[in-house]
Amino acid sequence: AELTDLVRSHIREIPDFPSPGILFRDITPLLADGPAFGALVSGLADVYGGRVDAVAGLESRGFILAAPLAAALGVGMLTVRKAGRLPGPVIGVDYALEYGTARMELRPETVSAGQRVLIVDDVLATGGTGAAAVELIRQAGGRVVGLAMLLELADLRGRDRLDGYQVDSVLVY
Ligand code: 5GP
Repeated sequence: AELTDLVRSHIREIPDFPSPGILFRDITPLLADGPAFGALVSGLADVYGGRVDAVAGLESRGFILAAPLAAALGVGMLTVRKAGRLPGPVIGVDYALEYGTARMELRPETVSAGQRVLIVDDVLATGGTGAAAVELIRQAGGRVVGLAMLLELADLRGRDRLDGYQVDSVLVY
């Protein structure tokens, strides 16, 4: 609860960004505050220590959280990236956006068979990105132990698309 309050007090709400009607949650004040960012990373490390073999970050803001968490846990970090960014061989999963589609990719060689993988991102909105990441880790032979999200926009029901997986959010709107 203390961590939740700390995070809440460092998130900025930006109306109509990046397009009209969207209320964007900006995490840059949290990242810029050393004690707050440090408390977040060590709080997550306390929860997941001993339970995961790798942390998968989702491009781009998921990387910012996944990398220090992986280092704190002493495990590797996997990068789940937007299409065309990773050198091959890669596997890819397409998913629907509000308008159009997107594709996330992963280098399957970076995942060991049966590895326990925690997926990390900044915001859970519709769950499309998270569900694509789950599919990629599974296809690569990893075992998804859960998804850790900094913020969850509960109205968008992202959790429903991640049925059967443990989803933990530091702060739910
Ligand atoms: P989803 O696929 O769950 O609909 O969208 C999640 C992705 O969109 C995340 O990777 C996240 O970075 C981004 N996203 C959606 N809304 C917001 C927002 O309000 N703030 C931030 N920082 N990212 C958002």
